[in-house]
Amino acid sequence: MNFRTPVGTNDILPPSSRVWSYVIDHFSRMCVRTNYDLIITPIFEESGVFQRAVGVDNDVVRKEMYQFQDRSGRDYSLRPEQTASIVRSYVESRPKYLPWKVYYWGPMFRYERPQAGRYRQFYQLGLEAFGSSDPSLDAEIISLAWDFLVDLGLSDLELRLNSLGDEACRPGYVADLTKFLDSVKDKLCGAHQDSYQRNPLRVLDCKTEACLEATQDAPFQRDFLCEDCRDHFKSVLELLDRFAISYRQDSRLVRGLDYYNRTTFEICSTSLESAQNAIGGGGRYDGLVRSLGGPDTPAIGFSIGLERLVSCLENQSPVVIGRAHQSHEPIIFLIDVTSSGKASQVFRDLSRSGINVARDYGDRSMKAQFKAADRSGAWVAVIIGDDELSRNSATIRALRDQEKLRALLQVSVREKYDGRSCGRQDELESSGQVEIDISDIEVFFNKVFIPKFSRHISLASQ
Ligand SMILES: [Zn+2]
Ligand SMILES: [Zn+2]
Repeated sequence: MNFRTPVGTNDILPPSSRVWSYVIDHFSRMCVRTNYDLIITPIFEESGVFQRAVGVDNDVVRKEMYQFQDRSGRDYSLRPEQTASIVRSYVESRPKYLPWKVYYWGPMFRYERPQAGRYRQFYQLGLEAFGSSDPSLDAEIISLAWDFLVDLGLSDLELRLNSLGDEACRPGYVADLTKFLDSVKDKLCGAHQDSYQRNPLRVLDCKTEACLEATQDAPFQRDFLCEDCRDHFKSVLELLDRFAISYRQDSRLVRGLDYYNRTTFEICSTSLESAQNAIGGGGRYDGLVRSLGGPDTPAIGFSIGLERLVSCLENQSPVVIGRAHQSHEPIIFLIDVTSSGKASQVFRDLSRSGINVARDYGDRSMKAQFKAADRSGAWVAVIIGDDELSRNSATIRALRDQEKLRALLQVSVREKYDGRSCGRQDELESSGQVEIDISDIEVFFNKVFIPKFSRHISLASQ
């Protein structure tokens, strides 16, 4: 029997998983630098968490949740998104100090029709900040999302922004919009003829010809904002101007989840097809903590879809992709033909000292081990043969970029041994190999060779 991944899911395999690892690492560092802490919540919650947060009328909750009863009959759902769980966690743990700033990455689950680039288990990374309605927090969150993508080498990005108003000015607007939609309902797309009353805002977001045309003269929230919302939005825009982040105001940007208010945003790649070009987005959800049973707490966050981000990087950021792969490549491949256990010891010492190192197993022939070394992508081989073992030394041979690396090895060994020839140095010189004492191996690589190597061969080191 051959088992396969469940429908709509996939394995993220090496070597492309190196890009994932790189991106997540890059994101985590940015979050730590800006005072966000990692949060990990269960991947399933009581279904009510999502029903309450996202709304029972929302399609995500109505049609796409993996909802199940456990063996004790409890009603649980796999999380279709992360924000609701984090709000539940905030309400449950009541952090003492605000703002409470957290970041995450992990799998989300939606029972959608499987199609290219869309998975039933998909991944998001993002962050959330609780406890301040200061517009500078909005600008911080937007700029973090923007800078994260730009620093990964993406160009062709467009930031779209909108204000969805608040509980003071939104209900009046929604009533007006609903009245308008009543008057054009026959012209809406099939899906929205049935559903516009349940969620009128989503009609503005609809990409069909029919809905776009029918809503050309629709009222937009921007003309209904109360003074507080207008001032708030203006401050956000002013800060973005100051950051020199360009944006486009988009009155049709309502986002898919119902809990957003005030500032909402999306970052799109203009080189992707327009129906699915958003890489990430987010916004304020000032009422959500209260609706999940907590005290009035303003909050804002964003999330970015990892699948789409990685595929954008693969198309647009060869430098970052190269760096991601390089950061995982072994620098050293250990070749040991002595059956002395030396390789095991050196492997442990080198890796603990911070060097990427690989090896072979099973005491195979020198030839087989060199083949494995070539396949591994390692830069140099450290060879321990019987001769070397008797002198307590190791031979180092360049595996890639031969000419440059040989020169670098020669220079390094001269520096290390201060011109004194070590072992068979003269004999090895013509073959471009060097020999060093095994007791020097860590210092030789960490202090002498790798710093030069990083400078000259441009190793990905951030
Ligand atoms: Zn529609
Ligand atoms: Zn308002």
